[in-house]
Amino acid sequence: MRLEHHRESLLRSPVATSQRAAHDRPPSVRYARSSLGNQAMQRLLMGTAQNTPDLQRQNAAPSYRDCTQNITGISDANEKLEAARIRARDFVDVAIAALGKTPASGSSAATALARHFINPTATQRETIRENYRQILHALHVTNFICNTAGMCGQFQAFWLPDDDLLHVCPRFWRLDRTCQAIVLIHEAAHDIGVDAGLTGHPMNRGTATYPAGNDPPPDGETAANRIVNPDAYGFYGAHIWRETDTGSRCGDR
Ligand SMILES: [Zn+2]
Repeated sequence: MRLEHHRESLLRSPVATSQRAAHDRPPSVRYARSSLGNQAMQRLLMGTAQNTPDLQRQNAAPSYRDCTQNITGISDANEKLEAARIRARDFVDVAIAALGKTPASGSSAATALARHFINPTATQRETIRENYRQILHALHVTNFICNTAGMCGQFQAFWLPDDDLLHVCPRFWRLDRTCQAIVLIHEAAHDIGVDAGLTGHPMNRGTATYPAGNDPPPDGETAANRIVNPDAYGFYGAHIWRETDTGSRCGDR
């Protein structure tokens, strides 16, 4: 879901983007170089892998803004959101890789490209790929905030131009991880402005112009339409990563 249409807050410098992306990287784990042989070093690494504070920190979920039990209604919102965010980034990673080449005829990648992006031209494919690169940057920890049901209404998540954050709602927690990741990519697509030139919200999956399940796109639907549709980015990434489409429309977003 996109709330309002103010785009001014989205203007970002490349420096700001790279700083935000850097925030997302896991802390590197360093081991002291020593004269130990390979087997001794291997034992050291295996032994320390269980209990070192560094690795425990690496495994812990980040503390997302306002994702407390009071606001989310669940006790493990940070863990769930982190798992969903990582899955979303995985979807985006494979989408970027898949868009870099022409899919083999009859492959699931070919089906995904035809179904979600309606056989884009090479130029359109590169536009989609660049959008995914920006979406990957938008999927960083500090870009999220949790909200209460009162603020969310029927939505699972939304992007708000006023604060330029991806808002996660109580209904989000009821989705399976595939849909959670799709929803996060959808909101990140709003964030980077794929639909910035439109006056209304593009049709979500599960409508006549973008049917759910294994139905092909209807006549008249075009790659140009899908390039500005946040759902196409979520469902294409999931389709590539899972090597099959999801039958779910993933609810309201
Ligand atoms: Zn939306």
